[in-house]
Amino acid sequence: QLRFGSALALVTGAGSGIGRAICARLAREGAAVAACDLDGTAAQETVRQIGGSRSEDGAPRGNHAAFQADVSEARAARGLLEQVQASFSRPPSVIVSCAGITRDEFLLHMSEDDWDKVIDVNLKGIFLVTQAAAQALVSSGCHGSIINISSIIGKVGNIGQTNYAASKAGVIGLTQTAARELGRHGIRCNSVLPGFIATPMTEKMPQKVKDKVTRMIPMGHWGNPEDVADVVAFLASEDSGYITGASVEVTGMKLAW
Ligand code: NAD
Repeated sequence: QLRFGSALALVTGAGSGIGRAICARLAREGAAVAACDLDGTAAQETVRQIGGSRSEDGAPRGNHAAFQADVSEARAARGLLEQVQASFSRPPSVIVSCAGITRDEFLLHMSEDDWDKVIDVNLKGIFLVTQAAAQALVSSGCHGSIINISSIIGKVGNIGQTNYAASKAGVIGLTQTAARELGRHGIRCNSVLPGFIATPMTEKMPQKVKDKVTRMIPMGHWGNPEDVADVVAFLASEDSGYITGASVEVTGMKLAW
């Protein structure tokens, strides 16, 4: 049993894959969960699955509530923090930024739009949510744990993913710097670097590529969303109270490209 206290956890990208598994794991640990996704219906489905709902006036019923927001839009990201704080009467003490996208193309052919879109969601989105969450925590004098989902691709690169790799490398640097700045406020910041995890994001990869990836994973199999959620839960809990600025790999060991 992890030590959680009375955590309120905001999870972005909560409507699918890793984000949904994180919501389920944190709820099991006793946290109240604010599940946010660009797809509001998917976020609501997550809340339904973990045992919460909204009453007709929109107020959270039970411990959990769903929110719709595009984290790459400054106004929406800041509004999200305000909405969560208003709904639960306190700022979230655990913030997990899991929203992410891919738009793969070889460097030689990548459009500016594909570059911008991935950087906007994966990197700027995390900046906006981390900043708004930290501001809410500092101004209310609360401690917190911020966990940003990066990727092992941010360290080792991947063919067809210059935009994605750059965004994920950026998340590591952003999170380490935030940890240095926010430590004195009692706010820990860590990033988690999953390897290849079976989710809707990776489902669309051609089978041949999937098989090649499997052969390169020393543990011999892909990870599950729950493998990532377990590590996030530890970083969210008081059991990791002296861990900050870390980037934790959840990869079945780094891929030997
Ligand atoms: P997924 O596609 O299953 O889920 C991503 C979720 O993010 C979706 O529900 C989507 O609607 C939401 N989202 C997208 N853009 C958004 C926006 N602008 N605002 C709010 N929500 C938005 O993907 P996943 O595999 O569960 O990935 C989750 C995170 O983990 C991503 O950041 C991804 O880059 C990272 N990651 C995944 C893997 C993997 O192998 N699946 C590996 C390393 C890192």
